[in-house]
Amino acid sequence: MTDSRLDLVLVNTPIGCLGSGRGGGVELTFRSVIQGLVERGHRLTVVTGRGSKLPRGCSDVALVEVDGEDQPSWQHANSDAPVVMPRHSLLPQLWQAALSRSAHADAVLNFGYDWLPLWITPFLPQRLFHLISMGAVTEVMREAIETLGRWDDRRLAFHTRRQAADFSLPAPAVVVGNGFDVTNYVFQPKGGGPLGWAGRIAPEKGLEDAAAAAAALGDRLLVWGFREDEAYAEHVEATVPSGTIEWRGFLATPELQQDLGLCRALINTPKWNEAYGNVVVEAMACGVPVIAYDRGGPGELIEPGLNGWLVPPDDVVALESAITRCDRIDRFACRQWVESHATYEVLSRRIEAWIRAGLMADGNITAMQ
Ligand code: UDP
Repeated sequence: MTDSRLDLVLVNTPIGCLGSGRGGGVELTFRSVIQGLVERGHRLTVVTGRGSKLPRGCSDVALVEVDGEDQPSWQHANSDAPVVMPRHSLLPQLWQAALSRSAHADAVLNFGYDWLPLWITPFLPQRLFHLISMGAVTEVMREAIETLGRWDDRRLAFHTRRQAADFSLPAPAVVVGNGFDVTNYVFQPKGGGPLGWAGRIAPEKGLEDAAAAAAALGDRLLVWGFREDEAYAEHVEATVPSGTIEWRGFLATPELQQDLGLCRALINTPKWNEAYGNVVVEAMACGVPVIAYDRGGPGELIEPGLNGWLVPPDDVVALESAITRCDRIDRFACRQWVESHATYEVLSRRIEAWIRAGLMADGNITAMQ
C-alpha cells in the first residue's frame, strides 16, 4: 500500500441532507469518514442533499449539493418489496452529480443503501465502493449486494461481521466498524442515574422489551429518539405502568451525550439484525455501560464484563437480571473501549485500507455472472 493522496468522491444517503438527522446512523458515519479522510490528507468531493453542513475542519472539501425528494427507506419494507424510484428523487440526482465529477477520481464511495448504485457498478469506468449500512432487509437488496459481491466482493464493506453474515459472499467480508469523534462525548464517571434507551422509535428497535424490564424493576426509562412510528410509541407506552417511560425527544449530539452520560446503563434491545448500533458506542463514550441483546452489531461491540452485558435475544427476565449487575462495570473502561476501537480516526484508516486494497485488486475482477 502506498501513502499517495487519493482523490475521492463521497456520496451521501438520498435521505435528508447532512445535519438533518433524517439519515439516521449513516449521517454520523458519513461525517466521521469525511473528517478522518481529510485529516489523512485525501482530496474529497462530497455529494449530498442541499442544506448540508460539513464537519469542522473540512473547508477544503468540494461540497456539491443537489435538490430532490427523499428516497423511501428500506427499513420498513416487506422482504418482497420492489425497488421504488419516486419522481424527483434525490437518488438519481446525487449519482448524476457524482458520476459527472468523478472521471479522474481514484474512487467513488457510496454511503446509501440503494439498488441503483449497486446494480450499475460493474458497468462503469469509475471505481465504486459501497459501505453497506443495513442487513438484508429485502430480497431485492440482498440479491443486488450478493450479485455485486460475486463480481468483486472487495467493492463492499460492512460495519460488523454479524451484519455481513446476512449475505452470501465469496470470501470473508471487509468489516470496518464505525467511528466517532470522541471529543464530542464527555466522560461522566458517576453512575447511579436512571436507565436510558436511545434510537428511532420503531418496531425493529424493540423499545417494548426495555420498557418491560424497567417496569419489572420499578425503574424509570429515559427515551431519546425520533418518533418514527407514532402508533408503535403509543402502544409501547400502554404496555407499562404510567411514568415508566420518560420521552425526552430527539436531541442533537451535544445535548444527547450530556443526558445520556448521567445514566447508569443504556438498554439496547434490537429485534432486527442491527448493522452496528451507534447509540451503544455513544453511550460507552460517555462512560455508560450497555446491556444489550446478543443480536446483530451490539453483540460484537459489547465485551461482557468490560463495557456491558449481553443477554439472549428477546429474554426480558435476563435483561432485568443484567441491569442489576450494571454497577460491576467500570465506566472508564467503557470510554477506553471506544477510544481504542471506534474513533473516526480508526474508521478512516480502515476505509482507506479497504479502498487501496480494492484499487490494487482492480483488473482481476471476475466476469459478471
Ligand atoms: N440520535 C440522535 N439524537 C437522539 C437519538 C438518537 O442524534 O435523540 C442518533 C444517534 O446519535 C445515532 C442515530 O440517531 O447516531 C441512531 O443510529 P443507530 O445506529 O443507533 O440506529 P439507526 O437509526 O441507524 O437504525
